[in-house]
Amino acid sequence: MHYAALASGSKGNCHALSDGDRTLLVDAGISLQQIRHRLDSLGWDSGQVQALALTHEHSDHIGSLGVILRRTNWAILATPDTRRAAERAQNVQIPANRWLEVKAGEALSWEGWLVLPFTLPHDAVDPVAYRVEAAGVACAVVTDLGHPTALVADHLQELDLLVLEANHDVDMLREGDYPPQLKARILSRVGHLSNAAMAELLDRACSPRLRGLVLAHLSESNNHPDLARFAAEEVLRGTATSLQVAHQREPLALSIPPA
Ligand SMILES: [Zn+2]
Ligand SMILES: [Zn+2]
Repeated sequence: MHYAALASGSKGNCHALSDGDRTLLVDAGISLQQIRHRLDSLGWDSGQVQALALTHEHSDHIGSLGVILRRTNWAILATPDTRRAAERAQNVQIPANRWLEVKAGEALSWEGWLVLPFTLPHDAVDPVAYRVEAAGVACAVVTDLGHPTALVADHLQELDLLVLEANHDVDMLREGDYPPQLKARILSRVGHLSNAAMAELLDRACSPRLRGLVLAHLSESNNHPDLARFAAEEVLRGTATSLQVAHQREPLALSIPPA
């Protein structure tokens, strides 16, 4: 299984998963042109993209949905509520023949892959994260959640690769110059995951099987990659898990062979 973080952060999110024959994107918050350009720059074949799974309707996750509907034939995975909210937010229609309905807690079989959406605590209509099992590898992309829930932790067991939000350092956010309302939203139980909360969730998800951790959706104003990395390293100490930090503009890729 191959994974790429094409973009990660409040200015746009896009993750890619590939078994070598087909590619599934999770979210499309950067332009289609950038998606293709960044896949090309990593040596991936952008022609292998077959589907886009939406996590929720915030613009940093669905910003290029309209262009994607017009210029590609990709299937769109979304829950019914997220489909409607995304259509309203972007003023587009996801045609019935392009829509693959997903429901939190129900695994979907897609091209031989197992795709399992599960509910996140976040201020959107029906936010989900995705656990994907393909080519003998289990991975999950988990961003945009206000706090670690038992349900989320349950879905992160026995993973080979975990992409996990480390949005902010609480002190940097509190002392920074964001407006009070925005600070309160980010800090709320349906906002974004702090480094400390990420570490707490990672501790519950960590197993000898976990080979890769990618920290994602870092705030450029309220976090520093070293702080996020340090919080994760505390938990990973003594393990063989590799650690990387996804970036807003520079894509990264890694390959996880079957266990
Ligand atoms: Zn987001
Ligand atoms: Zn969001």
